[in-house]
Amino acid sequence: MSFATLNLNPSILKALTETGYTEPTPIQAQAIPEIIEGHDLMASAQTGSGKTAAFILPALNRLAAPSKMPGKGPRVLVLTPTRELAQQVCDAATKYGKHMRFKIISILGGMPYPVQNRLLSGHVDILVATPGRLIDHLERGRIDFSRLEMLILDEADRMLDMGFIDDVERIAEAAPRSRQTLLFSATLEGVVGNLASRLLNSPKRITVSAAKDRHENIEQRMMFADDVAHKNKLLSHLLTDTEVNQALVFTATKRDADSLADQLSAQGHSVAALHGDMSQRERNRTLLNMRNGNLRILVATDVAARGLDVRGISHVINFDLPKFAEDYVHRIGRTGRGGSTGIAISFASNRDAQLLKRIERYIEQRIEMHTIAGLEPKYKLRTSSDRPRSGAPRSGGYAGNRGNGFGNAGGYGGNRSPSTGPGQARGYTDGRPARSEGYGGQAAQPPRDRSFGSRNGNTAAPRSDRPGFGAPRTERRGSFNGNRFSSRGNKA
Ligand code: AMP
Repeated sequence: MSFATLNLNPSILKALTETGYTEPTPIQAQAIPEIIEGHDLMASAQTGSGKTAAFILPALNRLAAPSKMPGKGPRVLVLTPTRELAQQVCDAATKYGKHMRFKIISILGGMPYPVQNRLLSGHVDILVATPGRLIDHLERGRIDFSRLEMLILDEADRMLDMGFIDDVERIAEAAPRSRQTLLFSATLEGVVGNLASRLLNSPKRITVSAAKDRHENIEQRMMFADDVAHKNKLLSHLLTDTEVNQALVFTATKRDADSLADQLSAQGHSVAALHGDMSQRERNRTLLNMRNGNLRILVATDVAARGLDVRGISHVINFDLPKFAEDYVHRIGRTGRGGSTGIAISFASNRDAQLLKRIERYIEQRIEMHTIAGLEPKYKLRTSSDRPRSGAPRSGGYAGNRGNGFGNAGGYGGNRSPSTGPGQARGYTDGRPARSEGYGGQAAQPPRDRSFGSRNGNTAAPRSDRPGFGAPRTERRGSFNGNRFSSRGNKA
């Protein structure tokens, strides 16, 4: 199927050809004709499926014909959960509408009100907004919805997760009843389904595939880590791989993102942090640097899990696993963009057993375990193939009998092959020289239990699973000897 069969305006088709798209993705092929026919639509489509173009192309198509209403308020309103996603929508509209004349503005939290007031008082065709800030303007009477033809809820599930349900409903109430409403979401069940039944009018329903079924183009790997020092070493090793074009590393907290970025920068990496405490300006600048290839590594919190669309990201590394299984899917979807392939590597420590189980249950597949020669975990681990299947009776689960969560401390060598299965040798496990500082020499040490992570070896340290506090300084330095790289030198 080609875009030409979709009845899109020739100027849009021209832009698509210039962008290099040869055919619509499945969500585009199914959604665009329904939208052009004027139906309300609820679509379940995974990020990375081309969903943004699935609603922006028909929206632009509408704008190709003049408005039937007088006024200068927006004709299309796109609500997104995050500023990053809003930016992505704006970029997509600008790209696909480059041969058209229209005005697009974004109204996002964290931006100055006076500028937004000025923007809203002018002529607008497409308004892209986060719900909270839009409500502020709506309540102050600064939004004119009299021309509004199309209301689009992008990643509706996420907006609801973030507590925007009342705002979304109030915005929808303020929009003309005659509008066309499109709802895109990873899931169409539960609260999202309820919201859709209130806001949409006899919608067509499209499910390209459930979130968890996607990402066949992303190879998922799991690496067990004894503690944060071990995670640091694994990360350092992975980042020296020249196959890593650009990497997105996820941490659990903003503070961890900052400290890990600092740590990687001190090691000579071209790296920045991205999280919600940064000003919009800083976030934009960082994203631009990532897009331009000026940065090789981005260390981010989940704020970057949605909407970030950088084709160069070859690897997603979960330094910390996400709290919610669904976020895992969104995180790994930051690689393998636009039809390319990607690799997602997750570090799991003993505290992550339940989380890992939830993730695997959610994606309905086992994540294969990998090890790096010389950086194997110290303790015997239960791996994908010998962990009990979901629902199967467990005898002790991932937690071993030594209190360290990983079973006995008998080392890893003896059972590596049988426990990891034939595919396990793919990637880093072969052909790599063992690291000089290695782990082998320490393998016979007794389990350190809760002492890892403390700077001074104080066994009372409460929380070890944080970057930057893992290993003594000398050990950390040693792990990077001879492995520094320049980001540019390593770019593919
Ligand atoms: P999205 O799911 O909207 O986040 O889009 C994921 C990526 O797919 C973006 O980088 C788009 O530029 C790209 N994309 C969208 N539509 C197509 C298409 N028809 N062919 C190739 N790439 C596409």
